[in-house]
Amino acid sequence: MHLNLDLHSHSGYAGGVGNTSFDAIERNMPLKGIDIVGTGDCLHPIWYDMLRSTLHESSTGLFSVTDDSTISYMLQTEIIITADIGDRRKGVHNVILFPTFESVDATRSLLEKWGVKNTVGRPFLCCEGPDDVARKLSAIHGVDDMIEIVPAHVMTPEGVFGSKAPVDSLCDFYSDATDLMSMVETGLSADPLILAMVPELDRMTLISNSDAHSPALHRMGREFTTVDARRSYESIITGLRRGHVVHTAEFNPSEGRYFLTGHRAGRKGHTQGEYCIFSPRHTPPDGKCPICGKSLTVGVLERAAHLSRAQGEERTLDSVRPSTQFVHMVPLVEIIAHNRGISSVSSKKVLSAYHEVTSICNECDLWFESESAVRKMLAGIVTDSLIDDIIQVKRGNFTFTPAGYDGEYGALTIGVQGDVEDVSIVHR
Ligand SMILES: [Zn+2]
Ligand SMILES: [Zn+2]
Repeated sequence: MHLNLDLHSHSGYAGGVGNTSFDAIERNMPLKGIDIVGTGDCLHPIWYDMLRSTLHESSTGLFSVTDDSTISYMLQTEIIITADIGDRRKGVHNVILFPTFESVDATRSLLEKWGVKNTVGRPFLCCEGPDDVARKLSAIHGVDDMIEIVPAHVMTPEGVFGSKAPVDSLCDFYSDATDLMSMVETGLSADPLILAMVPELDRMTLISNSDAHSPALHRMGREFTTVDARRSYESIITGLRRGHVVHTAEFNPSEGRYFLTGHRAGRKGHTQGEYCIFSPRHTPPDGKCPICGKSLTVGVLERAAHLSRAQGEERTLDSVRPSTQFVHMVPLVEIIAHNRGISSVSSKKVLSAYHEVTSICNECDLWFESESAVRKMLAGIVTDSLIDDIIQVKRGNFTFTPAGYDGEYGALTIGVQGDVEDVSIVHR
């Protein structure tokens, strides 16, 4: 069967904003069409107790709040692993999935033994260097070989391939523990097409999750993975390890704040009007800003091109094919808000249209149904102009202008396609 997975989320104990309640997840996820949700933060003592008292095992390795709920939970945490790479300290986010509460208990004991402070939802595992990373991850994997360790949002600054203390391969950070891994998370800042530029990921399954810190309709399930598996932990993880991904739904990476290379207006050495943005093929060869002369902030696309070269190939976006079928999408509440010219995605008008759409078809299915089926389903239910906007997003006809760079966001425009490969702007 096809199951929609969102295996990376957080409780209110992870720091940052947001809070997660089972009531809200149980209410919202059936509308989104998500079947299996990561619990988030399962190593954190308070959240762990909450999970223990709220959930019961409904099928092997999966947990539910009530017997008649359509939502299952997978025990999941994120941990931040830090290690010295040469003379720099690098921190890398990782998702860990557990088959049983007992395997969570044993992992908590290991972390305690290593002196990890478990006071935040997302604990820090400090390591000396790559070999120590490998030793500790092997010990965690040794607890139960169905535990899955997944490098999280790999292209963000906090991901293994991010621009902070950059490394050229997974081995440079994980050493031998790389062999324990069979999947990586695309994250909001990359998609299967961009990651197809990185040769060593050819053997890896690419999964997509929301990394949500709240169960709001535009957060949880905003990215997901559809797997062909039975409804059990083992079947899902084995399916993912073997690459049985049907498709993923992804944010448009150009929405990410560090997608292209550049320098934003107003940064040191720039006036309020001076900025520059470059696609990889247009980046100045010395990597220096033509305005202030300092090194440019390297974007995700440029990092992917660098990794391709560092791993011995010259892959470009138009030379690669993604290993996984995927769509770019925008959360439906954001499309509705955009369509109505309303800024709040939780306003009454937006939610009422959202419920009209999802009374006919859950949001996950909407992205993979044919255009004609969507038109037929929604005709007479919502306005024609909203149906048109949904169809435009399904066709990939939306963009963020400009694409994100040096911490700047672009604005959503529906009805046009962006060209991220041919951007070269120096604005003085
Ligand atoms: Zn993270
Ligand atoms: Zn500059």
